[in-house]
Amino acid sequence: MIDYPTLEKALKKNEFTPYLFETISDAIDYLLKTLNPAESIGMGGSMTIQDSGLYEKLIEAGYQVHWHWNAPIEQWYEIREEARHAVIYICTANSVSMDGKLVFMDGASNRVSAMLYGPRDVYLLVGKNKICTDLSSARKRIFDVVAPKISKLKNYKTPCKETGKCYDCATTDRYCRVEVILHKKPRDVNMHVFLIDEELGY
Ligand code: SF4
Repeated sequence: MIDYPTLEKALKKNEFTPYLFETISDAIDYLLKTLNPAESIGMGGSMTIQDSGLYEKLIEAGYQVHWHWNAPIEQWYEIREEARHAVIYICTANSVSMDGKLVFMDGASNRVSAMLYGPRDVYLLVGKNKICTDLSSARKRIFDVVAPKISKLKNYKTPCKETGKCYDCATTDRYCRVEVILHKKPRDVNMHVFLIDEELGY
């Protein structure tokens, strides 16, 4: 059982804006009611986003959305650049610690570079499976859970794909390349942390 009031308090202390939703559908309804269709939206690669159908719902509602996961790989660089320059950026965190710190691991860094400086508002969709007791377990979760699952999804040739254990590998497919820990919200961006009481993504 997650102690959401304590987590929300910790996130607020670190200058994030937390929200609590029972389901991803509730979170999407909130976004559709809140976001201005005249403002461009960028999105990071995310199983949470893909499984939720958020991209399709935003497009149906008339938003201008830049999301490379919905395009052929030859267009990814261009679309990631457009996403990086959008007013709104939507993505996920890989883990959140109960003391209100957010941990991200990227391979290409497009997500972390896009969310840290540039957009006015960043929305982070976080399922309950990503909430960890402390920063150490939040970091460990990435090597124990996230990287092996992403390696399987993308068919990366990494040792953790087979064993579920990290070997600090030197493979060209290595997912764990750029780790970003937000101890506090970056100064010039509004960061909305959606805590969603469902298991979502990796
Ligand atoms: S460093 Fe390599 S082996 Fe370790 S979790 Fe990341 S991709 Fe897997």
